[in-house]
Amino acid sequence: MKQVFIEDSCIGCGTCVEICPEVFELNGEVAVVKKGANLSLDKKIIEAAEACPVEAIVYEK
Ligand code: SF4
Repeated sequence: MKQVFIEDSCIGCGTCVEICPEVFELNGEVAVVKKGANLSLDKKIIEAAEACPVEAIVYEK
């Protein structure tokens, strides 16, 4: 991945963190992309994006 974003629509459910803790973490009430995260984990990032209930994870391949 070139870039991964989490949009403001995130509801902090934690699903992406469960699926891919290498890239996502909860910061208060919302998820964020960890600093220095390994964005080469494409499969897990896509899996997390597809599992997000509000489609808040946006990525650029
Ligand atoms: S799965 Fe979606 S809504 Fe849930 S914490 Fe992650 S980005 Fe937010």
